[in-house]
Amino acid sequence: MIVDGHTHVWRYPEHLSDEFVYDASHVGGIPGGQQEKINPIMNTNLNDHWRAMEPVDKAIVVAFKSNHLKVHVPNEYVAQYVQTHPDKLIGFASVDPYDPDPIAEIEHAVEDLGLKGLKLSPIYQNVSPTDPGMLRIFGKAEKLGLPVLIHQGATFPRRVNLKNALPVLLEDVALQFPDLKMVIAHLGHPWEVDTLVLIRKQPNLYSDISALYYRPWQLYNSLILAMEYGVTHKLIFGSDYPFTTPADTIRALYELNNLVEGTRLPKIPKEVLDGIVYRDSLALLNLTTP
Ligand SMILES: [Zn+2]
Repeated sequence: MIVDGHTHVWRYPEHLSDEFVYDASHVGGIPGGQQEKINPIMNTNLNDHWRAMEPVDKAIVVAFKSNHLKVHVPNEYVAQYVQTHPDKLIGFASVDPYDPDPIAEIEHAVEDLGLKGLKLSPIYQNVSPTDPGMLRIFGKAEKLGLPVLIHQGATFPRRVNLKNALPVLLEDVALQFPDLKMVIAHLGHPWEVDTLVLIRKQPNLYSDISALYYRPWQLYNSLILAMEYGVTHKLIFGSDYPFTTPADTIRALYELNNLVEGTRLPKIPKEVLDGIVYRDSLALLNLTTP
């Protein structure tokens, strides 16, 4: 069983603002800063997403909302797409704490749209995850048993504040909502060490390794550290499609050890890599699919 725990679909300009797309291409949201890739990455085709998911058994597709950056991939858009492949795709809703009634939006997303979790992105929303508006959302997610994929790590837009992105801010959330399942996206880069020590001590916190392989030295070191802290069992697979694909991410994970070939530096054992790639993260997150 391979689960891609982190994928996006979106259209430009319908869902993404000029500011978001400009910053993505100029500040480095695109792997390798390849500006020529901006169009396909910022304007995904649903058929391309579906084809890219061929190597995986299940995939989580997330909505995305940031009033601050005028980005809005609607919950309805994601729900409509996942309904075309209900045996394989799982949709996550997104709400912004500055929406008029995010709690009602969550209820609508779950009851009417059939979405199974939340994608939250406090840094993109220019808010701390410990803001009262965010805490209300976390409380609702815990009550409904909705897992949260949370972008708690650095990102590219200029007008957002990195201080809101620190993974350790989630410790207060985890203590206040101990049954809430949260997955910290991208190992909380560049605070991977903070993420590892946080998920080590908070039982319902996990982290995905998506969109990191194009910084292979950082990912290699992070996985070695995850072994040293004994938390590799809490790392889950994800691609962050369209920034990367599951196939490229799997290939890159197994090629990481090439970095240290011919040296005395440690290698990441195949069992650890297999554990990440083949982990049933849906079971970890209490997500059951038909
Ligand atoms: Zn993402």
